[in-house]
This record gives sequence, C-alpha cells and structure tokens, in this order.
Amino acid sequence: MVRAKKRFGQNFLADQTIVSKIIEATSDLSFEIVEIGPGLGDLTEAILARGNLSAIEIDGDLIAILKKRFAAAITRGELTLINADALEAWKTGLSSKPYAIIANLPYYAATEIILRALRDPLCREIVVMAQLEVAQKFCGANGANSLSLLVQSIGSAELLFKVPKEAFKPAPKVESAVIKIVKTKPSYDEGFSNFLKEAFRAPRKRLTNNIKAPIETLKSIGANENTRASELRLEQFETLYKGIKSGSGNA
Ligand code: SAM
Repeated sequence: MVRAKKRFGQNFLADQTIVSKIIEATSDLSFEIVEIGPGLGDLTEAILARGNLSAIEIDGDLIAILKKRFAAAITRGELTLINADALEAWKTGLSSKPYAIIANLPYYAATEIILRALRDPLCREIVVMAQLEVAQKFCGANGANSLSLLVQSIGSAELLFKVPKEAFKPAPKVESAVIKIVKTKPSYDEGFSNFLKEAFRAPRKRLTNNIKAPIETLKSIGANENTRASELRLEQFETLYKGIKSGSGNA
C-alpha cells in the first residue's frame, strides 16, 4: 500500500460510487480532458473509459505507479501523464485546445487551482471535488461572496453533492463536495475580481467601509451608505465597478 503524503494533500477516493457520480456530472466529454492530481488512478480509469485525457501529478512516486497501471493506454496515446505541479504547468498552458478539468483536488491548493481555471480562457468546464467550505464559497451556498460573484460574472456554479470523510483513504479532517462550474465567458476581468475582493474585505461592515463610492453612485444602483456587499446583486456590482473605473465614482 502506498503511504499517502500529507504535504501533497493525498486523500485517495476509495468509493467507486463517488467516482461514477463525478463522471456522470460532466456535461459532455467532447472537450479535451485534464485531470489534476490523478493519485493512484481510480478517477483516471473511469475517465479513460469515456475518452482520452492528460493527467498532471506532482508526486513522482505516484507517476511511477500510474505508468505501470496505464502502460497500455499510454502506449495507445489515450493517456498523457505529466509529472509536474499543475500551477507551474499552467504558466505554459495545460492544453492547446478548449478543455474541461475533472479532478479530486488537493485541498491545500483547491481555491488557487479553481481560480486559475476560471482565468484560463481555454478551460470551459470544471467538475471537481474540494473541501465543503470551498465548494460552498464558489457556489454562494451561504450567501453571495467575492468568489461566487466572480463565477457568476463568467458562468454558473452548482454544488452537486457532498462526500463524507469515510469515502477517502486516509480520511481527511473535513467534509468534501463536488462542484460543477460551466463557463459562458472565457475569462474574468482581473480588475473586477480585485474590486469584489475589496468590496467583501469586511463583509459584516457597510460597503462604503470597504470601497470608496459617492452616494450618487450608490443611489444609481439602488444602494445607500448602509448597504452591505452581500445585499447587492452581480449586475449592481458591475455597474458600480464601471462607474468607479470611469471616474464618476471617485470619492
Ligand atoms: N485523484 C486521486 C483520487 O481521487 O483518489 C487523488 C486525489 S488527492 C485528493 C490529490 C492529488 O493531487 C494527489 O495525488 C496529489 O499528489 C496531487 N497533487 C497535489 N498537489 C498537486 C499539484 N500542485 N499539481 C498536481 N498534482 C498535485
């Protein structure tokens, strides 16, 4: 048995029903498929049954195991294994064609990986497992926040199902969930992303505590000096951002 490495967030899926449910959740597999962190290869095998893929794994020991397990698929050109840190590999691109990510993400890097995928215009769909809290954030399950609004600005996110700790070996400390993000726009505006982050910096405080906007600009979107960021819809944030950027909103 392989010893799981904590530093790489190795919690291997040990429940085949969850693997099948992840595969069923992908819209269609006509895109190129990229798996981040194939681990021991259970999800990889299920994806391979539907189509070709590239899999990026940081751990060289696991790459050796995967090479043996999938020797035939690699020879047939159905699976491309890459031994790299996915975030580093992104600097030159994960794919040259439109692609979807299917993965059981390492928790320590889940938010960063999802954000990187949202920013990559070639990435069109994301079906990933992450810790429940991160999944809920991107879907706005407990109310709007900067990440849920960012996703809404370029597509939609859905929390598909929760996954109990017992579905993994070793069991993680936290619960997990699978989310699906479908992009309708290729990428987000970095300035708007930073603006949302600022607007939600102290979410319990008034919006004007976090960003500078004159009362007339707030009124134009139906807000006032007592409004909190969580009370505004995406369209209101977009109008506010445009107003501030064009100079009409500078306090
Ligand atoms: N897909 C397997 C499964 O479902 O059982 C493993 C999932 S495990 C939660 C996360 C995997 O991501 C591990 O195999 C780990 O080594 C790999 N990993 C961690 N950080 C990574 C990174 N930055 N780039 C690529 N792979 C990474």
